[in-house]
Amino acid sequence: MTITTELQDVVAESLVVDGAQLIDGEWVPSHTGRTIDVINPANRALIARVPESDAEDVEHAVQAAERAFPAWRDLNATARGALIFRWADLIEQNGAAIDSLESQEVGRPSWGPPPMAAQLRFIAGQADKVQGVSLPTYSPDTVGYTLREPYGVVGAVIPWNAPGPMFATEVGSAIAAGNTIVLKPAEDAPLTPLALAKLALDAGIPAGVVNVVTGYGAEAGAAIPAHPRIRRVGFTGSPQTGRSIMEACAKNLTPLHLELGGKSPQVIFDDADLDTAIPAIAAGITLNTGQICAAGSRVVVDRRVHAEVVDRLAAAMQKVTVGPWHQQVNMGPLINARQHERVCGYIDIGREQGATIVTGGGRPAGADFADGWFVEPTLFDGVTPDMRIAQEEIFGPVLSVIPVDDEAQAIEVANGVDYGLVASVWTQSVGRAVRMTRALQAGQVGVNNALGAGVIGAPFGGYKNSGFGRTMGADSVLDWTQVKTVSMREAPLPRF
Ligand code: NAD
Repeated sequence: MTITTELQDVVAESLVVDGAQLIDGEWVPSHTGRTIDVINPANRALIARVPESDAEDVEHAVQAAERAFPAWRDLNATARGALIFRWADLIEQNGAAIDSLESQEVGRPSWGPPPMAAQLRFIAGQADKVQGVSLPTYSPDTVGYTLREPYGVVGAVIPWNAPGPMFATEVGSAIAAGNTIVLKPAEDAPLTPLALAKLALDAGIPAGVVNVVTGYGAEAGAAIPAHPRIRRVGFTGSPQTGRSIMEACAKNLTPLHLELGGKSPQVIFDDADLDTAIPAIAAGITLNTGQICAAGSRVVVDRRVHAEVVDRLAAAMQKVTVGPWHQQVNMGPLINARQHERVCGYIDIGREQGATIVTGGGRPAGADFADGWFVEPTLFDGVTPDMRIAQEEIFGPVLSVIPVDDEAQAIEVANGVDYGLVASVWTQSVGRAVRMTRALQAGQVGVNNALGAGVIGAPFGGYKNSGFGRTMGADSVLDWTQVKTVSMREAPLPRF
């Protein structure tokens, strides 16, 4: 294995300290002395190493966060927000390097300037808008009000598919509210979070406020919800891991939010503007190689436009170029061998259960693809709502088309899964749009757009098995606070 030159450039820019994690403002190895290789999924080249930590490293990080907490909590909220604004400025200034680093470890082509700085600025602006309320009282000599206070030391575990935005929004919201945090990034993509943590430190956010402990889920990850002095937890990842995080939190009665998977429907009616819908849906399922929780992976389409939609989707998906991330392609490889096996396995299941492959369905051939976890953009037609490819999250560039007869059936099929993350409706009818936005069981509903884009400060989170709690919006900062009710009156004078 060779270290890729691209990362050497980034390392030279000192965004990542090879083999180290951030605890108490210091770049330190794990006490285990072991490391994990971070691999470029396009060619399996070694990018860098990170510490393989466990519960003992998490304990050190918690202690550091506990030491940092009182001063961070007591810093006035405008000053806390100002430091987060400065962090956002540094992220913007280092946008190209961060984008390149995330591309290397995730395997995606460049997305241009990352959205993190804008998201973080919105969150920073919330820091001094965390407010309680004044309460009515039974008598005029009493004052009642609520305070919103941070929990103290909080913890988070995030996945690999969009490590930068996930890190910035989770950490940003938690610290804007006055908490200090211990976060474990995914073992496949820990470098962007470490780079962002370095920029937080450079911005002047004090040592110990943001701690990043790297390692595997079963060790470093599991130690976070199991830690009795971590007072609140945020988790983004798969429903299976979410369940075990919630069980661990239950033991300590630790509150949490969960951002889990999705099986998001794209509902197309016969009056939809297909010139807008088709490219958006094809882009939505191939962006990040379909490894986006919000990806619209089911097309629920009015039978009257079914044939046209299938033809046009196939044509759009065939235009998606696939290859190593640095070759100006539209779509890179999947993240790792396990994910490749999973996606190819679902393509086989779709075939076996009787769905028809319209395009894709294989692994692209040629020297460029030999070492990476590539798969073709794949479109299935003839899918019925009960098939596994219509029910289970594939987390790959695989789209299933399910024809329906009318609006009532469209709602039934769209809602007929365990998930409820995002749903889109494509129609020109305002009345139908209003009815559908009410009827769809999803945390986010887009009308004539695919990934809920274009809204500033939009809260993000799930219905049903997609989780609970909201990230990104103003609510995300409030989620990291607890409410204290105060009632106050002058003590009666002593009687003589
Ligand atoms: P995953 O659950 O396998 O891993 C996520 C994180 O949890 C990683 O950091 C991992 O190391 C850690 N982890 C694994 N086992 C653990 C354990 N027992 N205890 C504590 N931590 C543990 O998920 P993944 O495969 O990395 O990510 C893909 C999943 O994430 C998909 O289901 C996707 O939909 C979901 N996701 C959801 C959102 C959202 O906002 N709703 C966003 C991105 C990804």
